Amino acid sequence: MDLTFTAEEEAFRAKVRAFLDQKLPARLSHKVASGLHLSKADMEEWHAILNAQGWLANHWPREYGGPGWSAVEKFIFENECALAHAPRIVPFGVNMLGPVLIKFGTEAQKRYWLPRILDGSDWWCQGYSEPGAGSDLASLKTSAVRDGDHYVVNDQKTWTTLGQHANMMFCLVRTDKDAKKQEGISFLLIDMRTPGVEVRPITTLDGVHEVNEVFLTDVRVPVANLVGEEDRGWTCAKYLLTYERTNIAGVGFSMAALERLKQIAARQRKHGKPLAEDPLFAARMARVEIELENMKTTNLRVIAAVAGGGAPGAESSMLKIRGTEIRQELSSLTRRAMGPYAQPFVAEALEEGFEGPFVGPEYAASAASQYFNYRKLSIFGGSNEIQKNIISKMILGL
Ligand SMILES: Cc1cc2nc3c(=O)[nH]c(=O)nc-3n(C[C@H](O)[C@H](O)[C@H](O)COP(=O)(O)OP(=O)(O)OC[C@H]3O[C@@H](n4cnc5c(N)ncnc54)[C@H](O)[C@@H]3O)c2cc1C
Repeated sequence: MDLTFTAEEEAFRAKVRAFLDQKLPARLSHKVASGLHLSKADMEEWHAILNAQGWLANHWPREYGGPGWSAVEKFIFENECALAHAPRIVPFGVNMLGPVLIKFGTEAQKRYWLPRILDGSDWWCQGYSEPGAGSDLASLKTSAVRDGDHYVVNDQKTWTTLGQHANMMFCLVRTDKDAKKQEGISFLLIDMRTPGVEVRPITTLDGVHEVNEVFLTDVRVPVANLVGEEDRGWTCAKYLLTYERTNIAGVGFSMAALERLKQIAARQRKHGKPLAEDPLFAARMARVEIELENMKTTNLRVIAAVAGGGAPGAESSMLKIRGTEIRQELSSLTRRAMGPYAQPFVAEALEEGFEGPFVGPEYAASAASQYFNYRKLSIFGGSNEIQKNIISKMILGL
């Protein structure tokens, strides 16, 4: 196992940096670095720039529009983008549905939907979770009953991220009520403009509208929108989840957040000295930096195993737990570094064009909001408790 980058990989990194230098709009990187809210147009703008370069669907096979990168190149790309404060790729179409269509879709489905993911014609959201089906996803109840060449879908999805922007939702539905839990589930593509689809906002702890409830009442979905076989959707669902956990460690995001924290701690003062020199604060910063370095090594080990023909297994659960704990700790330290300036919550200060007044330094505006928003990291993509169950079974053999 070799954890150093080759000369070719370093050359690839330089190419990515040059691209980001030239093509990442300063307006967007400023918004990301400052924790300002990104609009739908911002996210679409960045997708279009990546697509023009052929780098948007960077883990799709070449024949469908991917760049043919290795796992190491993807790792380098993701980290460099995070360090340059590029907007993250909205994962639902590119990272989640795309691979499912490539593996399970019909030729007609691939030909129609994949180019639309790339050029932004469709904005996808993920309809998996329900009020009674989160960690225990297979107990989902949303029903789809066949009626001629349509399914009629009823019930409710929840926590649908960015569903307010979406015109399409990939959805898990129950097509056989009498089968065992994991059987009798199908994977359907639902047009959000169909009569009977209602999206209601959920406002989260940080005052933001990021997630939604989606109510489905007698929604007619063409049978042509079934992906894979009827009643075999669980296979698609599980395959998609392995992609949902891609880059779950978020090493680049944490590296960028640590850099920002160091800059803030050098500016903020405690007892007349920079906060970075406070022994307790410095110790917490050092601990999280060491943990981040450790995680980076673990991440590279997993990538090396994949490059050597292995498959990432329960190790991705380790990365999920440590990665999200580190990001939460960094957001907690950043909030603490602001002291009382982290308390006032001026929602408008997180929108582009806000002209003040700021309460405290400008960089304090997003500290509390980001801290609260990041509580989600240990819940979605399979909660950290569920990841611990996986580790105890698959690694510890308990
Ligand atoms: C911000 C956000 C965005 C999301 N976006 C989406 C989305 O776009 N689409 C979508 O489909 N879903 C989305 N989700 C849903 C997410 O996948 C679920 O919240 C997650 O799977 C947990 O399910 P739950 O909320 O029903 O909690 P529950 O499953 O009810 O769990 C409650 C608590 O019990 C613990 N727990 C449950 N079972 C066990 C067990 N067996 N052993 C130990 N502990 C256990 C959990 O860890 C958790 O702490 C999102 C969630 C959040 C918070």
